[in-house]
Amino acid sequence: MNKYRLTQTRSQLLKLLKNTPLPVSAEDLLQKVPVNKTTIYRQLTSMVAQGLIKPVLFTDRTLRYESADRDHHHHLICTNCKKIIDISFPENIEQTAQTSASAQKFKINTHHLEFFGLCQNCQ
Ligand SMILES: [Zn+2]
Ligand SMILES: [Zn+2]
Repeated sequence: MNKYRLTQTRSQLLKLLKNTPLPVSAEDLLQKVPVNKTTIYRQLTSMVAQGLIKPVLFTDRTLRYESADRDHHHHLICTNCKKIIDISFPENIEQTAQTSASAQKFKINTHHLEFFGLCQNCQ
């Protein structure tokens, strides 16, 4: 693939990730961007390394990605239909975790918090 097409693919991927409110997998992206698997994976890896996107690993072991410029948030995941909903917590709750960790002389750099259950449709 020439350099021009590569740049195009890259910006196309970034745009998709920015416009999709929820984390998407490489498979999802493959259906929208007309390039091969290897290119997608290589681009995703390099964009993660550059801090443009963030990998999100759910317990179904599918690696998904979301734009890194989103505000800090967590996910509610329906175990039946796999729907993902974003939620955020008040800052003082996040701070409480940091305070508890500090008591163990531990400095938290990052965290992932996913909640599993059933969405409204699946209850
Ligand atoms: Zn559901
Ligand atoms: Zn958090």
